[in-house]
Amino acid sequence: MNTDLPRDDAGAAQGTAAAAPHGVDARARDTAPPHGGTTTNWRLRHDQDGVAWLTLDCAGGAVNTLSAPVLAELASMLDALDARPPRGLVIRSAKPAGFAAGADIDEFAALNGAQEARALIARGWDLFARLAAVRYPTLALIHGHCLGGGLELALACRYRLVADEPDTALSLPEVMLGIFPGWGGMSRLPALVGAPAALDMMLTGRRVDARRAAALGLADARVPTRLLDAAARHTVLSGKPRRRARGLPALLNRSPLKALAARQARKRIADKDPQGHYPAPAAIVDLWEHHDGNALRAPALLETILASDTARNLVRVFRLQERLKAHGKQEGAAPVTHVHVVGAGTMGGDIAAWCALRGLKVTLQDQDMARIAPALGRAGKFYADKLKDRRAARAAFDRLVPDPRGDGVAHADLVIEAIVEQLDAKRTLYRQIEPRLKPGALLATNTSSLSLRDLGAELAQPERLVGIHFFNPVARMPLVEVVRGPADDGGAQARACAFVGAIGKLPLPVRDAPGFLVNAVLAPYLLEAMRCVDEGLAPETIDAAMTAFGMPMGPIELADTVGLDIALAAGRELAGGAEPPRCLMQRVERGELGRKSGRGFYAWRDGKADKGKAGDAPPGLAQRLTDPLVARARQQLAAGVVSDADLADAGVIFGTGYAPYTGGPLHGERARGARTTE
Ligand code: NAD
Repeated sequence: MNTDLPRDDAGAAQGTAAAAPHGVDARARDTAPPHGGTTTNWRLRHDQDGVAWLTLDCAGGAVNTLSAPVLAELASMLDALDARPPRGLVIRSAKPAGFAAGADIDEFAALNGAQEARALIARGWDLFARLAAVRYPTLALIHGHCLGGGLELALACRYRLVADEPDTALSLPEVMLGIFPGWGGMSRLPALVGAPAALDMMLTGRRVDARRAAALGLADARVPTRLLDAAARHTVLSGKPRRRARGLPALLNRSPLKALAARQARKRIADKDPQGHYPAPAAIVDLWEHHDGNALRAPALLETILASDTARNLVRVFRLQERLKAHGKQEGAAPVTHVHVVGAGTMGGDIAAWCALRGLKVTLQDQDMARIAPALGRAGKFYADKLKDRRAARAAFDRLVPDPRGDGVAHADLVIEAIVEQLDAKRTLYRQIEPRLKPGALLATNTSSLSLRDLGAELAQPERLVGIHFFNPVARMPLVEVVRGPADDGGAQARACAFVGAIGKLPLPVRDAPGFLVNAVLAPYLLEAMRCVDEGLAPETIDAAMTAFGMPMGPIELADTVGLDIALAAGRELAGGAEPPRCLMQRVERGELGRKSGRGFYAWRDGKADKGKAGDAPPGLAQRLTDPLVARARQQLAAGVVSDADLADAGVIFGTGYAPYTGGPLHGERARGARTTE
């Protein structure tokens, strides 16, 4: 039995209690009657008002996951509550990170056969159905992340309150792993918020913040953190009926409009994924439409989805992402709090804006104030769009300091150089700034194509030089290549990886080699696509074939976006001496440089390519275009640019958006090979 007993936090209700994080007030614990209980992962306490507080605190981790033991213990807690029903039950988390991150992905990955798959679904479905049916009122008190199975647990409660904090995030991300929310979410979410909002969340995995959760009715209210406990007690004892969707969103849950909503959802799915690489979204619509979200009623579909290659590969991609994130968590790396960026152009301006968004102090240098001003203008708009909160946007903007004289160099922990791609210009700059760097400060270059050996040749301390290669557009691209310089013993690269992790990007450690990993694999792919144009295929046909294959953007549109002059220069360097495609040379000669000049392979209007209708692609086109990419990924791996095949796949997926359902280019190739030899 646990002796750390519960409390009545009326003080918190008045806003006077010194509330610990997430409203868990530690002061009043010893006033309650002596009954409660603990298991390895849960703590149950009863307070003087007869409210039971059930706290999830999974052993041995920073986040709560709903593994089989955690669910079994929840069942035993419900047994205890059945024996002595409380006036109300509040379920909450003791983890600062959030409520619960969802089911245990390792259990899912280890599933062996249809029976185990069904058992895994039934385990959560039955337990949450039991929770939803208890006689006393229940409430989920949510802070931080509340994802997947965690949200399904919260949905099984009568009420939900969310902390009114920026990190509150509710979602059903199962679809991103190629599966479906199997523990009641597909039934309870539409009933609560209506079909359109529920289908959107279930089919995209999109996160909903505190404000939106309250607006949708997903949460009964959003509450300041210090008042969470008091609000929970008040709400759970309020006797208010459970919320339900009303009006048209509710009608769309029922016949005959349900069929219409399902048809529209299926059409959107087919438009996005015409070749059906991702079977889970259509399965979710089927399960919602025909089985009230209960996958146990459709065993064949359940088994097909859980055993699909797509689900397996998407779990693999999730794990690759976790691996990259781990590179960004270097124990003991001295933190970077002040970044100085030199070069306020396309990249430098956006890198500076991103770092300030993520809470760092940033000084931004260019040759004069007039060249910094456009970057500040972009940053202001970016913060307004992204943060949707004037005060937060202002605070981010205040962290971004224009610095035409470069005073920040002497104070920064990290200087990122993002000036023009010319060796001499960069070396001249280094000569000026190196003597002014703080002891221990890192000097990073955002170069795409210059060698760190050449760049660092004149440095007094070449070991402090590292490549931090962001991709364009900085705000949207998750990957950053972190290039080890020739004089670095690994310390600078590790610290740079920690910095990249701290600003919420995925660091990929790479060796100094032309094109590193990502540009090296893209070059032969783009080249092959342009050869197809030389052979007479329409750009639209090529791009449509590749988006149907699963790329986020076709290669010709990508070339137009990057800039055809840059594509030509990169191609010359990275294509191993191959003759540039005629279509590319002609356009560059005519000054048609793609999106930035308003015309390239396409005409560009308002940032969008004006495309004609795509024709039928010749059979095998996608394979023809991806083969050179895969071959180059293999070469870069063999040359030690990345340390193993999984990192090569991770880099290509997160750096180019390479069709995730394949599990990555090298994995996809291995899987294809295995299938053909079977
Ligand atoms: P850009 O031409 O948009 O900006 C370069 C900026 O550097 C200009 O504002 C210029 O005034 C400034 N500058 C030049 N010399 C300077 C100096 N001595 N001191 C201070 N400022 C100086 O270039 P960009 O596209 O942002 O590229 C910058 C770097 O990032 C290059 O190394 C490029 O290879 C790399 N990169 C570019 C992209 C891309 O898509 N544009 C992607 C990844 C990496």
